[in-house]
Amino acid sequence: MILVGDPNVHNSDWLGGLFNSIWSAKVPPKVSIAAWRFIMNYVPTFSNLSMRRISISHQCLLCSDATETNVHLISDCVFVKSVCAGLGITLPFRSTEQDWLFWLSLLFKGIIKSQQRTLVVIYWAIWQTRNQKLHENRTKNPVEVIQFVSSYLHELDGLDNISHQPSAQSPSQWQPPAPNSFKVNFDASYDKATATSVSGGLVRDADGLIMAAFSCPNRFVRDPEAAEAIACFQAISFAKDAGFRRIVAEGDSLVVCSKINRQEQDLSRISPIIFSIKEKAKGFESITFVHVRRELNRAAHALARFGKSFSSTQIWLEEAPPVVEEAALIDRWWVNPPD
Ligand SMILES: [Zn+2]
Repeated sequence: MILVGDPNVHNSDWLGGLFNSIWSAKVPPKVSIAAWRFIMNYVPTFSNLSMRRISISHQCLLCSDATETNVHLISDCVFVKSVCAGLGITLPFRSTEQDWLFWLSLLFKGIIKSQQRTLVVIYWAIWQTRNQKLHENRTKNPVEVIQFVSSYLHELDGLDNISHQPSAQSPSQWQPPAPNSFKVNFDASYDKATATSVSGGLVRDADGLIMAAFSCPNRFVRDPEAAEAIACFQAISFAKDAGFRRIVAEGDSLVVCSKINRQEQDLSRISPIIFSIKEKAKGFESITFVHVRRELNRAAHALARFGKSFSSTQIWLEEAPPVVEEAALIDRWWVNPPD
Protein backbone atom coordinates (compact mmCIF):
# COMPACT_ATOMS: atom_id res chain seq x y z
CA MET A 1 0.00 0.00 0.00
CA ILE A 2 1.32 3.41 -0.94
CA LEU A 3 0.99 5.90 1.88
CA VAL A 4 2.88 8.78 0.52
CA GLY A 5 1.21 9.39 -2.79
CA ASP A 6 1.78 11.77 -5.59
CA PRO A 7 2.29 15.22 -4.09
CA ASN A 8 -0.77 16.36 -6.04
CA VAL A 9 -3.04 13.81 -4.45
CA HIS A 10 -4.64 14.57 -1.10
CA ASN A 11 -4.75 11.89 1.52
CA SER A 12 -7.93 11.45 3.43
CA ASP A 13 -8.50 13.05 6.82
CA TRP A 14 -8.22 9.84 8.82
CA LEU A 15 -4.62 9.40 7.79
CA GLY A 16 -3.82 12.96 8.80
CA GLY A 17 -5.53 12.34 12.13
CA LEU A 18 -3.43 9.25 12.72
CA PHE A 19 -0.17 11.02 11.92
CA ASN A 20 -1.19 13.93 14.07
CA SER A 21 -1.76 11.63 17.06
CA ILE A 22 1.71 10.16 16.61
CA TRP A 23 3.56 13.44 16.16
CA SER A 24 1.71 15.27 18.88
CA ALA A 25 2.30 12.57 21.53
CA LYS A 26 4.45 14.05 24.29
CA VAL A 27 7.46 11.81 23.83
CA PRO A 28 11.05 12.50 22.74
CA PRO A 29 11.39 12.78 18.95
CA LYS A 30 13.39 9.55 18.75
CA VAL A 31 10.37 7.66 20.09
CA SER A 32 7.79 9.22 17.79
CA ILE A 33 10.12 8.89 14.80
CA ALA A 34 10.74 5.21 15.56
CA ALA A 35 7.01 4.57 16.02
CA TRP A 36 6.23 6.40 12.79
CA ARG A 37 8.83 4.43 10.84
CA PHE A 38 7.58 1.19 12.32
CA ILE A 39 3.98 1.94 11.40
CA MET A 40 4.85 3.24 7.96
CA ASN A 41 6.73 0.06 7.20
CA TYR A 42 10.07 1.74 6.77
CA VAL A 43 11.83 -0.50 9.20
CA PRO A 44 13.37 -3.69 7.90
CA THR A 45 10.99 -6.38 9.15
CA PHE A 46 11.66 -9.80 7.73
CA SER A 47 9.02 -9.57 5.06
CA ASN A 48 10.56 -6.29 3.89
CA LEU A 49 13.98 -7.87 3.82
CA SER A 50 12.78 -10.82 1.81
CA MET A 51 11.26 -8.44 -0.71
CA ARG A 52 14.74 -7.04 -1.06
CA ARG A 53 15.97 -10.64 -1.38
CA ILE A 54 17.91 -10.66 1.87
CA SER A 55 16.02 -13.63 3.18
CA ILE A 56 16.65 -14.90 6.71
CA SER A 57 13.67 -16.28 8.55
CA HIS A 58 10.10 -15.21 8.22
CA GLN A 59 8.75 -16.01 11.59
CA CYS A 60 7.71 -13.35 14.08
CA LEU A 61 10.44 -13.20 16.72
CA LEU A 62 7.99 -12.28 19.43
CA CYS A 63 5.22 -14.86 19.07
CA SER A 64 6.78 -17.39 16.61
CA ASP A 65 3.27 -17.79 15.33
CA ALA A 66 3.09 -15.95 12.04
CA THR A 67 5.10 -14.22 9.33
CA GLU A 68 6.67 -11.06 10.60
CA THR A 69 5.18 -8.10 8.79
CA ASN A 70 4.48 -4.69 10.23
CA VAL A 71 0.76 -5.43 9.86
CA HIS A 72 1.24 -8.51 12.03
CA LEU A 73 3.31 -6.66 14.62
CA ILE A 74 0.90 -3.76 14.85
CA SER A 75 -2.48 -5.43 14.83
CA ASP A 76 -2.27 -9.23 15.07
CA CYS A 77 0.70 -10.36 17.17
CA VAL A 78 -0.34 -12.04 20.43
CA PHE A 79 2.77 -10.71 22.18
CA VAL A 80 1.92 -7.13 21.21
CA LYS A 81 -1.73 -7.62 22.14
CA SER A 82 -0.77 -8.76 25.63
CA VAL A 83 1.60 -5.80 26.12
CA CYS A 84 -1.17 -3.41 25.07
CA ALA A 85 -3.70 -5.14 27.31
CA GLY A 86 -1.29 -4.97 30.23
CA LEU A 87 -1.08 -1.21 29.77
CA GLY A 88 -4.83 -0.75 29.54
CA ILE A 89 -5.23 -0.63 25.77
CA THR A 90 -7.48 -3.22 24.17
CA LEU A 91 -6.80 -3.71 20.51
CA PRO A 92 -10.10 -3.93 18.62
CA PHE A 93 -10.77 -6.84 16.29
CA ARG A 94 -9.52 -6.38 12.75
CA SER A 95 -10.97 -8.51 9.96
CA THR A 96 -8.49 -9.54 7.30
CA GLU A 97 -10.24 -7.39 4.73
CA GLN A 98 -10.01 -4.24 6.79
CA ASP A 99 -7.17 -1.95 5.83
CA TRP A 100 -4.81 -2.20 8.80
CA LEU A 101 -3.79 1.44 8.60
CA PHE A 102 -7.41 2.52 8.71
CA TRP A 103 -7.86 0.14 11.63
CA LEU A 104 -4.94 1.82 13.37
CA SER A 105 -6.39 5.27 12.77
CA LEU A 106 -9.65 4.14 14.42
CA LEU A 107 -7.69 2.72 17.34
CA PHE A 108 -5.87 6.04 17.91
CA LYS A 109 -9.11 7.97 17.48
CA GLY A 110 -10.87 5.86 20.07
CA ILE A 111 -8.42 6.46 22.91
CA ILE A 112 -7.49 9.52 24.95
CA LYS A 113 -4.26 11.52 24.56
CA SER A 114 -2.37 9.80 27.37
CA GLN A 115 -3.23 6.39 25.92
CA GLN A 116 -2.10 7.54 22.49
CA ARG A 117 1.21 8.40 24.05
CA THR A 118 1.38 4.98 25.70
CA LEU A 119 0.70 3.32 22.35
CA VAL A 120 3.47 5.27 20.63
CA VAL A 121 5.89 4.21 23.36
CA ILE A 122 4.65 0.60 23.07
CA TYR A 123 5.40 0.48 19.34
CA TRP A 124 8.84 1.88 19.97
CA ALA A 125 9.48 -0.65 22.76
CA ILE A 126 8.16 -3.55 20.69
CA TRP A 127 10.54 -2.68 17.94
CA GLN A 128 13.47 -2.51 20.37
CA THR A 129 12.48 -5.83 21.93
CA ARG A 130 12.30 -7.45 18.54
CA ASN A 131 15.75 -6.10 17.60
CA GLN A 132 17.33 -7.22 20.86
CA LYS A 133 16.07 -10.72 20.16
CA LEU A 134 17.39 -10.60 16.61
CA HIS A 135 20.81 -9.05 17.22
CA GLU A 136 21.66 -9.96 20.80
CA ASN A 137 19.46 -13.02 21.27
CA ARG A 138 17.99 -11.36 24.34
CA THR A 139 14.46 -12.46 25.03
CA LYS A 140 11.92 -10.41 26.92
CA ASN A 141 8.46 -11.54 27.86
CA PRO A 142 5.38 -9.30 27.64
CA VAL A 143 5.51 -8.55 31.38
CA GLU A 144 9.04 -7.19 31.10
CA VAL A 145 8.04 -4.98 28.17
CA ILE A 146 5.04 -3.73 30.15
CA GLN A 147 7.36 -2.84 33.04
CA PHE A 148 9.78 -1.11 30.70
CA VAL A 149 7.03 0.98 29.08
CA SER A 150 5.51 1.93 32.47
CA SER A 151 8.80 3.07 33.93
CA TYR A 152 9.68 4.95 30.75
CA LEU A 153 6.34 6.77 30.84
CA HIS A 154 6.91 7.51 34.48
CA GLU A 155 10.31 8.96 33.69
CA LEU A 156 8.81 11.14 30.95
CA ASP A 157 6.24 12.51 33.38
CA GLY A 158 9.08 13.59 35.61
CA LEU A 159 10.82 15.53 32.88
CA ASP A 160 9.86 19.12 32.44
CA ASN A 161 11.64 19.51 29.19
CA ILE A 162 12.47 17.17 26.41
CA SER A 163 16.21 17.42 25.81
CA HIS A 164 17.31 20.05 23.36
CA GLN A 165 20.24 19.86 21.05
CA PRO A 166 22.65 22.78 21.40
CA SER A 167 22.07 25.16 18.55
CA ALA A 168 25.47 26.76 18.14
CA GLN A 169 25.66 26.81 14.37
CA SER A 170 27.45 28.82 11.81
CA PRO A 171 25.08 30.52 9.35
CA SER A 172 27.35 29.47 6.52
CA GLN A 173 26.19 25.86 6.93
CA TRP A 174 22.96 24.04 6.40
CA GLN A 175 20.92 24.35 9.59
CA PRO A 176 19.17 21.31 11.05
CA PRO A 177 15.61 21.89 12.30
CA ALA A 178 14.68 21.92 15.99
CA PRO A 179 14.30 18.42 17.48
CA ASN A 180 10.51 18.43 17.26
CA SER A 181 10.29 19.58 13.66
CA PHE A 182 11.54 18.72 10.18
CA LYS A 183 13.25 20.64 7.45
CA VAL A 184 12.00 20.46 3.88
CA ASN A 185 14.45 21.73 1.26
CA PHE A 186 13.08 22.27 -2.22
CA ASP A 187 14.47 23.30 -5.58
CA ALA A 188 13.59 23.18 -9.29
CA SER A 189 15.49 22.64 -12.50
CA TYR A 190 14.02 24.49 -15.46
CA ASP A 191 14.22 23.87 -19.20
CA LYS A 192 13.27 26.93 -21.20
CA ALA A 193 13.18 25.14 -24.58
CA THR A 194 10.43 22.72 -23.53
CA ALA A 195 8.83 24.88 -20.81
CA THR A 196 9.20 22.03 -18.38
CA SER A 197 10.61 21.80 -14.89
CA VAL A 198 11.49 19.17 -12.35
CA SER A 199 10.81 19.80 -8.68
CA GLY A 200 12.88 18.13 -6.03
CA GLY A 201 12.42 18.11 -2.28
CA LEU A 202 13.56 16.23 0.78
CA VAL A 203 12.53 16.03 4.43
CA ARG A 204 15.25 15.79 7.09
CA ASP A 205 15.14 15.42 10.84
CA ALA A 206 17.16 17.24 13.51
CA ASP A 207 20.07 14.87 12.91
CA GLY A 208 20.09 15.82 9.25
CA LEU A 209 18.95 12.32 8.27
CA ILE A 210 16.74 11.92 5.24
CA MET A 211 13.21 10.83 6.08
CA ALA A 212 11.71 11.11 2.62
CA ALA A 213 12.49 12.64 -0.77
CA PHE A 214 10.72 13.17 -4.08
CA SER A 215 11.16 14.48 -7.59
CA CYS A 216 8.29 15.50 -9.82
CA PRO A 217 8.25 16.59 -13.48
CA ASN A 218 6.00 19.50 -14.55
CA ARG A 219 4.84 20.75 -17.94
CA PHE A 220 3.76 24.18 -19.19
CA VAL A 221 5.98 26.08 -16.80
CA ARG A 222 6.46 29.72 -17.83
CA ASP A 223 9.76 30.63 -16.24
CA PRO A 224 12.30 29.68 -13.56
CA GLU A 225 10.44 31.67 -10.92
CA ALA A 226 7.23 29.71 -11.54
CA ALA A 227 9.28 26.50 -11.44
CA GLU A 228 10.62 27.42 -7.98
CA ALA A 229 7.16 28.30 -6.68
CA ILE A 230 5.74 24.99 -7.99
CA ALA A 231 8.61 23.14 -6.32
CA CYS A 232 7.76 24.84 -3.03
CA PHE A 233 4.09 23.90 -3.34
CA GLN A 234 4.86 20.29 -4.23
CA ALA A 235 7.43 19.97 -1.46
CA ILE A 236 5.10 21.13 1.30
CA SER A 237 2.26 18.99 -0.14
CA PHE A 238 4.59 16.01 -0.10
CA ALA A 239 5.63 16.72 3.49
CA LYS A 240 2.02 17.08 4.54
CA ASP A 241 0.94 13.82 2.89
CA ALA A 242 3.83 12.04 4.58
CA GLY A 243 2.51 13.20 7.94
CA PHE A 244 4.97 15.92 8.93
CA ARG A 245 3.16 18.61 10.86
CA ARG A 246 5.92 20.95 12.01
CA ILE A 247 8.25 21.98 9.23
CA VAL A 248 10.68 24.59 8.04
CA ALA A 249 10.48 24.91 4.24
CA GLU A 250 13.72 26.14 2.74
CA GLY A 251 14.52 27.17 -0.81
CA ASP A 252 17.08 29.27 -2.64
CA SER A 253 14.72 31.54 -4.57
CA LEU A 254 14.64 34.86 -2.72
CA VAL A 255 11.73 36.09 -4.84
CA VAL A 256 9.53 33.10 -4.06
CA CYS A 257 10.39 33.02 -0.35
CA SER A 258 9.76 36.71 0.15
CA LYS A 259 6.46 36.59 -1.76
CA ILE A 260 5.28 33.79 0.52
CA ASN A 261 6.33 35.66 3.65
CA ARG A 262 4.70 38.92 2.61
CA GLN A 263 1.34 39.63 4.26
CA GLU A 264 -0.32 41.49 1.40
CA GLN A 265 -1.70 39.70 -1.64
CA ASP A 266 0.78 38.95 -4.39
CA LEU A 267 -0.18 40.36 -7.79
CA SER A 268 2.60 38.96 -9.93
CA ARG A 269 2.40 36.25 -12.59
CA ILE A 270 3.00 33.56 -10.03
CA SER A 271 0.32 34.81 -7.62
CA PRO A 272 -1.95 31.73 -8.07
CA ILE A 273 0.90 29.46 -6.98
CA ILE A 274 1.83 31.72 -4.05
CA PHE A 275 -1.82 31.70 -3.02
CA SER A 276 -1.93 27.88 -3.16
CA ILE A 277 1.22 27.68 -1.04
CA LYS A 278 -0.29 29.94 1.61
CA GLU A 279 -3.49 27.90 1.63
CA LYS A 280 -1.57 24.63 1.91
CA ALA A 281 0.51 26.09 4.74
CA LYS A 282 -2.65 26.42 6.86
CA GLY A 283 -2.72 22.63 7.18
CA PHE A 284 0.43 22.55 9.32
CA GLU A 285 0.79 22.90 13.04
CA SER A 286 3.81 25.05 12.40
CA ILE A 287 5.50 26.09 9.17
CA THR A 288 8.08 28.72 8.30
CA PHE A 289 9.58 29.63 4.94
CA VAL A 290 13.26 30.38 4.83
CA HIS A 291 15.55 31.56 2.07
CA VAL A 292 19.10 30.19 1.86
CA ARG A 293 22.01 30.58 -0.46
CA ARG A 294 22.20 28.05 -3.28
CA GLU A 295 25.19 26.21 -1.83
CA LEU A 296 23.18 25.38 1.26
CA ASN A 297 20.35 23.97 -0.83
CA ARG A 298 22.63 21.46 -2.54
CA ALA A 299 20.65 18.31 -1.68
CA ALA A 300 17.37 19.60 -3.14
CA HIS A 301 19.28 20.96 -6.12
CA ALA A 302 20.78 17.51 -6.75
CA LEU A 303 17.30 15.94 -6.53
CA ALA A 304 15.78 18.36 -9.02
CA ARG A 305 18.57 17.52 -11.46
CA PHE A 306 18.43 13.80 -10.80
CA GLY A 307 14.67 13.79 -11.37
CA LYS A 308 15.17 14.83 -14.98
CA SER A 309 15.76 11.21 -15.93
CA PHE A 310 12.23 10.21 -14.94
CA SER A 311 8.95 10.93 -16.68
CA SER A 312 6.88 10.49 -13.51
CA THR A 313 6.99 11.37 -9.82
CA GLN A 314 9.63 9.48 -7.85
CA ILE A 315 9.53 8.91 -4.10
CA TRP A 316 12.28 7.69 -1.82
CA LEU A 317 11.72 6.79 1.80
CA GLU A 318 14.53 6.84 4.33
CA GLU A 319 17.00 7.20 1.52
CA ALA A 320 17.67 9.18 -1.64
CA PRO A 321 19.69 8.79 -4.85
CA PRO A 322 23.48 8.61 -4.18
CA VAL A 323 24.18 12.18 -5.40
CA VAL A 324 21.58 13.47 -2.98
CA GLU A 325 22.84 11.32 -0.11
CA GLU A 326 26.28 12.74 -0.74
CA ALA A 327 25.01 16.31 -0.61
CA ALA A 328 23.07 15.54 2.57
CA LEU A 329 26.22 14.11 4.11
CA ILE A 330 28.06 17.38 3.52
CA ASP A 331 25.13 19.17 5.18
CA ARG A 332 25.69 17.09 8.32
CA TRP A 333 28.84 19.09 9.00
CA TRP A 334 28.45 18.91 12.77
CA VAL A 335 28.85 15.12 12.71
CA ASN A 336 32.46 15.48 11.51
CA PRO A 337 33.27 19.12 12.19
CA PRO A 338 36.34 20.48 10.40
CA ASP A 339 39.28 21.42 12.67
ZN1 LIG B 1 4.02 -12.07 16.47
